[in-house]
Amino acid sequence: MHAVQESLLDAGTAPPPIERPRIERQAVTRAFDGVTCHEVRARTAVERVPEAAELPFQWSVSPYRGCESACAYCAARRDHRRLGLDAGAGFASTIVVKTGLADRLRRELAAPKWEGAPVALGVAGDCYQPVEDVYRLMPPILRALADAGNPFTVLTKSPLILRDLDLLREAAKVAPVRAAVSVGFVDDRVRRSVEPGAATPQRRLEVCAALNDAGIPCGVLMAPILPLITDSPDHLLATVRRAAEAGAVSVTPIVLRLPSGTREWYLAWLEREHPGLVPRYQALYGRSPVADADYRRRITAQVHSLAEAYGIGRDSRRWRRRRSPARQLTLA
Ligand code: SF4
Repeated sequence: MHAVQESLLDAGTAPPPIERPRIERQAVTRAFDGVTCHEVRARTAVERVPEAAELPFQWSVSPYRGCESACAYCAARRDHRRLGLDAGAGFASTIVVKTGLADRLRRELAAPKWEGAPVALGVAGDCYQPVEDVYRLMPPILRALADAGNPFTVLTKSPLILRDLDLLREAAKVAPVRAAVSVGFVDDRVRRSVEPGAATPQRRLEVCAALNDAGIPCGVLMAPILPLITDSPDHLLATVRRAAEAGAVSVTPIVLRLPSGTREWYLAWLEREHPGLVPRYQALYGRSPVADADYRRRITAQVHSLAEAYGIGRDSRRWRRRRSPARQLTLA
């Protein structure tokens, strides 16, 4: 490991060694296209979102742990490590599937102590990643939320969400339903390197446009903005402009976080792909999981002012291309 990279790792938050997988005994294991799925019975459905995640949600429901999109920066890698699984390459090839989640969710939503707070779907792993096409856990989850009239937001990078468009529309008749596609940048060369299993930014923006056209308000989670890689004024402008063209109802900037479990994997990627940036990351992050506060303030202010200029959240529709990106989308 690069000496500078070593000094970037926080001794206080260094990850524990990988333990024996804690799910091993209960799980039924199946393999699909090089992905190993451990099927475990869901013990809880609604989980609290850690404040440190900086997401605008308090509660989440995640049918999968691990994610085939394999984003080098994914904060959910830490959860894999907590389960005793490999948070590196194994994060994308070993997926924990929470079976019976919809039934469990129905019970939790019906509990007297549950007050109907909005929930986010897909925080610990993309809920529309490819294995969802096999397990189809999302339709009964959406029905459970709709039957309870519970507000929710779906977070995804995947066009597979459009499979469930009718269910989203049905749910939207009884409760506020929103979606957010995660598009931290629109440069596909960067995407191929750092998000190798994810749909292209263009395709995600087409999904955003299709959802908005269908009446499901969809925003762009501009996450993460990668310091010194996708934070230039040109990158920020291009991303916000394309979000506006897709009719995004909001743009939420989140600068890269590097908690333990994510940090090691991202820094290894950085050293491979951009070795010259490692010392500059050291200056920006030191041993903290978050970048320097002035830097974060500056970048988020830039994004907010671009979003304001494009009328996102007000009249961004005027920026939409005559030919809506949604029309370019071919549904499977
Ligand atoms: S799509 Fe989301 S959950 Fe999946 S690896 Fe990327 S950041 Fe993580």
